Amino acid sequence: MINVDKIRADFPILKREVHGKPLVYFDNAATSQTPQVVIDAIADYYSNYNSNIHRGVHTLSQEATDKYEEARIKIQHHFNAKEAYEIILTSGTTHSINMVASGFASLIQKGDEIIVSALEHHSNIVPWQMLCEKTGAILKVIPMLENGALDMEVYHNLVNEKTKLVFCNHVSNALGTINPIEEIIEKAHTVNAAVLIDGAQATPHIKPDVQALNVDFYVASAHKLCGPTGVGLLYGKQEWLEKLPPYQGGGEMIATVSFEKTTYAGLPHKFEAGTPNICGGIAFGAALDYMNAVGLDEIAAYEAELLAYGTKELLKIEGLKIFGNTSEKTAVISFNVGEIHPYDIGAILDKLGIAVRTGHHCAQPIMDFYKIPGTVRASFSFYNTKEEIDVLVNGLKRAVMMLS
Ligand SMILES: *Cc1c(COP(=O)(O)O)cnc(C)c1O
Repeated sequence: MINVDKIRADFPILKREVHGKPLVYFDNAATSQTPQVVIDAIADYYSNYNSNIHRGVHTLSQEATDKYEEARIKIQHHFNAKEAYEIILTSGTTHSINMVASGFASLIQKGDEIIVSALEHHSNIVPWQMLCEKTGAILKVIPMLENGALDMEVYHNLVNEKTKLVFCNHVSNALGTINPIEEIIEKAHTVNAAVLIDGAQATPHIKPDVQALNVDFYVASAHKLCGPTGVGLLYGKQEWLEKLPPYQGGGEMIATVSFEKTTYAGLPHKFEAGTPNICGGIAFGAALDYMNAVGLDEIAAYEAELLAYGTKELLKIEGLKIFGNTSEKTAVISFNVGEIHPYDIGAILDKLGIAVRTGHHCAQPIMDFYKIPGTVRASFSFYNTKEEIDVLVNGLKRAVMMLS
């Protein structure tokens, strides 16, 4: 069971006020807040052992290297990767996806097919379009249904011998839909296509087991799971990471360099050119420790309670429509009230101290599907409360009164 009062005390930002009102932070799907232990890990790094890693013989450099590699092992264990070197530390989900997309340029050919889902974040659409432009491969889309689920029947028909890659998010950031990734992966593997799963939105609530999923690539960002911005991971099966060419050239990623020939370092360094976000990597490890101490199952159960309560209370508002109504969803409520523009609602809620996101949520195709300019999105985390949901509902009633 979540002790929410105790948890809230771990997050200094939750004590602040906005426009003279207590902050109600419901923009967790965009970025999560940071507990004191993670802030302390960042301060500890810069206060006590800030140093460049892997190259130094001196004590600070060794301490920083040890902590950074310890963080990689924490990430490995969290995702249950077979080897630590299958965890590439990146600047985040977007960076990880681009690494895979750019690497595949040398592995696919004209006429090959790439499948993406209609529920994707822009960061999971644009790199594949660029890859198709470069190679002549063809992009196919798994369509979505009215309730925000993927049309899996169409997916099964799309997969064929030409399919080389399938990309899908684990959870949709715009609607909260949890996608049937096990089924997606299994089907893709019947034709030996590689599968990349974008876990940016799933990892705050679900602990993925990459070996059990048998997924080829899995990516996520630390800042959505109580860690800092600018760091994330690319998990890749060893065989795939060995097949992919390096993404960037530079220091750290080489074995030997001469003007005649350079040989690349082994995994994971082949994909980690230059000085990485050392402090961020270490803080990412601290964030996973924190999340695991609270317990991902407890987090998911409590958030499901918030989702059920929030859905019930919000639907009492006349004219309110929720987009994304699958039974399998995370604590995200995307909605509109009548014809009121989402931005106007968001601006009034902000005056009341309530942080929600408004707009297309980097998922324009979903908005086009529903023929709306965007939605208001309230996304809950395990440090939120039912009382805060009441504040949102009352704020919304006020906003609707002022705007209609
Ligand atoms: C946030 C998010 C991204 C982008 O993550 P960055 O940390 O901005 O790179 C990609 N996909 C999904 C589903 C997301 O929620």
